[in-house]
Amino acid sequence: MAEINIPFLDLQPIYRASQPGIDAALARVAGSGWFLLGKELSAFEAAYAQQCGAAHGVGLANGLDALHLALLALGVGPGDEVIVPSNTYIATWLAVSQCGATPVPVEPDAATFNLDPARIEAAITPRTKVLLPVHLYGQAADMDAIHAIAAKHGLKVLDDCAQAHAARYKGRAVGSLADVSAWSFYPGKNLGAMGDGGGATTDDAALAERLRVLRNYGSRVKYHNEVKGFNSRLDEIQAAVLAAKLPALEAQTDERRAIAARYLAGLQGLPLQLPHVPDWTEPAWHLFVVRHADRDGLQQRLAAQGIGTLIHYPVPPHLQPAYAELGYAEGDFPIAEAMHREVLSLPLWPGMSEAQIERVIAAVRACA
Ligand SMILES: *Cc1c(COP(=O)(O)O)cnc(C)c1O
Repeated sequence: MAEINIPFLDLQPIYRASQPGIDAALARVAGSGWFLLGKELSAFEAAYAQQCGAAHGVGLANGLDALHLALLALGVGPGDEVIVPSNTYIATWLAVSQCGATPVPVEPDAATFNLDPARIEAAITPRTKVLLPVHLYGQAADMDAIHAIAAKHGLKVLDDCAQAHAARYKGRAVGSLADVSAWSFYPGKNLGAMGDGGGATTDDAALAERLRVLRNYGSRVKYHNEVKGFNSRLDEIQAAVLAAKLPALEAQTDERRAIAARYLAGLQGLPLQLPHVPDWTEPAWHLFVVRHADRDGLQQRLAAQGIGTLIHYPVPPHLQPAYAELGYAEGDFPIAEAMHREVLSLPLWPGMSEAQIERVIAAVRACA
């Protein structure tokens, strides 16, 4: 096997782009003697809410907790159902299960890989409480269509924004498009911490307050517990690092868009399905995902040329042993299943060199 000399992802240029601010942030927190629920968190929450065009930001421990606590704050509990995509990272489903509720999968639009609004109504029952679209790979789901269905059936909308930092939908920032939006700041996400991190954005002050209570043992006043809460706080070091990285996010997203444009132009005319971008969405290009009938062969041929790729994701949630309880079988969600057999994510990160971009294009042209 050849040496991988173009990795799937290189986080070092992203660190270097904000290094003075990050290093100062780490030293500042270390010297402050204050590590949880302090002014670094408040400052990042305000800055990130503003970035999203939302009234409130709440820092949480990770993206899974953000989804879980947001569902609890919307009142989801045992016996309820939540509509989720059949093709997503399993965290989207797990958050629903953690509430004692049932994830109800709906197939994606095969072109955009996002929840297909035309299929949602057939999955709604009297138990449905929330629609939970995912802006998969960094491209916004069709939120206006999803809201129209939610309004008709009296449902809430929570969006999983873990892959969509700085993405836009009809000119509006992702993070201001739902009743509440859940974020991950996992290191490999487009805005990544130096460890785990997550959060929520919302215009609803009461909901933001419920999240703040839930993340801190159910208490507003120390040792007074109003509800059975959790320990799910974004710590001061991670908040300070994220705040130091935030000013570079828009430029880094523009760089991702420029690389994606190069790929879209350079990979025309191959037996390969390229990402489809409707004109109302400006993706954040967390991932650049192509589809190929012989995906595994393509991945191996690219590896032989030194190009690292990943599969997002190899097994859909309904076929995971973790969800055996729901009783689904192969064939139940054919669009998701075909995607999982055929998708491949190409290298893409802000700071990728011109030579690296060209080598990826040449290698895919030779291998596809
Ligand atoms: C990363 C991710 C999550 C989970 O975030 P963590 O911070 O790793 O818990 C949830 N949903 C999607 C779509 C993700 O990509």
